[in-house]
Amino acid sequence: ASREVASTVQAVLNVIETTVDLHVDELGRLDSIAGDGDHGIGMQRGSRAAKAAGTAAFAAGAGAETVLAQAADAWSDRAGGTSGALWGLILGQVALRLEDTGRPAPEAVALGVAAAAKSVMSYGKAELGDKTMVDVLVPFSEALARSIDGEETLADAWSAAATVATTAAAATADLMPRMGRARAHGKNSVGTPDPGAYSLALIVNAISTVLSA
Ligand code: ADP
Ligand code: MG
Ligand code: MG
Repeated sequence: ASREVASTVQAVLNVIETTVDLHVDELGRLDSIAGDGDHGIGMQRGSRAAKAAGTAAFAAGAGAETVLAQAADAWSDRAGGTSGALWGLILGQVALRLEDTGRPAPEAVALGVAAAAKSVMSYGKAELGDKTMVDVLVPFSEALARSIDGEETLADAWSAAATVATTAAAATADLMPRMGRARAHGKNSVGTPDPGAYSLALIVNAISTVLSA
């Protein structure tokens, strides 16, 4: 099972990279409305580096935790920008709840995502409603925990939570930014979703296809 779980992590890193590639221009455009326009390229640098580091670790025989931890470090080292540091934290926190051997319980994954939400908030100081990725990460994490408590499989719980993430990302369009670079451009961003919230929703939906396969 260990090799299988590590290979699922690999497939997840792969689909993150592919999804970011597909949306790189769109993410850049979203970020250019109130930010500095680099969200697409930053996410692309990060996800490519993460995939490459994960592939190398997997090829060297590493288990799921190590594959994801190496990917997390590579993402934050190479992406640059606020979102790069935050994505490194997210993957790193989930990695801590996986093991190198055996199959993680769905609860462990939900706890990892909850820890990720907590670290992002403590590192970035954004709260709910500040128009950041936190506005997707928190409802996603809560929905995932709820479904898993209700004994759904990881794949079903993740899929339900991904739907919540999509709705939450769209809802950030109505918010006024209070954090990060977008704060300076306040009103310009009303009507447009937060780029980091939007990319997070795209990514969790893409991961859902891997977990349900
Ligand atoms: P940068 O802002 O450094 O150019 P990116 O453009 O890659 O980095 O990412 C911008 C996204 O990062 C925002 O849309 C937002 O979702 C997220 N973000 C920025 N600052 C914070 C913060 N303090 N807490 C949580 N998320 C943040
Ligand atoms: Mg930016
Ligand atoms: Mg930037």
